[in-house]
This record gives sequence, C-alpha cells and structure tokens, in this order.
Amino acid sequence: MAVKYIFSNPFFVKFKKHYCPECGNILRVKRESQIVNSRSEEAKNFDFYNGENFLIGGVKFIWNVFYCDVCNKTFSIKDIRQYEKNLKQK
Ligand SMILES: [Zn+2]
Repeated sequence: MAVKYIFSNPFFVKFKKHYCPECGNILRVKRESQIVNSRSEEAKNFDFYNGENFLIGGVKFIWNVFYCDVCNKTFSIKDIRQYEKNLKQK
C-alpha cells in the first residue's frame, strides 16, 4: 500500500513548545494515520499527488497532530497556529 506523509511545518511542530488552548498543559506531538481509497467519497479531503504521481487505490496518510494528556484531546496543527496567532494579537 502507498504511504504518504503530510508534513506541515516541521519546524513549528518540533522545535517550539505549544500549550493546550483549554488547560495550558504542554502539548505532545502525536502521529495520526488514516487509510483512504482514492475512489472513496472522503478522497476529496486528501491530496493524492505524491510528487508527480497520482496515487490510486488505498493510500495510508500519516500526519502529526498535537495532543493534550490532561484534556485527552487532539488539536490540528492548523488549530494551534491559529490559536497562537490570536494570542499574539491581544
Ligand atoms: Zn488540555
């Protein structure tokens, strides 16, 4: 099966500390994965291009999320970026 890693901004994720928007605990980076078939309905939410190739059939997508041990919640990298941006504006 094809595997595609979705790495958005590794510097932001790995080298900075991020805090939970709800409780302020330090967030952990967690790996999420999902198998998506290129012909399925949810395929429209995923990018099946890997370089020049279009992946066909079942593809395992792997990406990072932030996870709070205290709230037991996951946050997307996009959510946390948005949250931190809002904090700076206050
Ligand atoms: Zn929390």
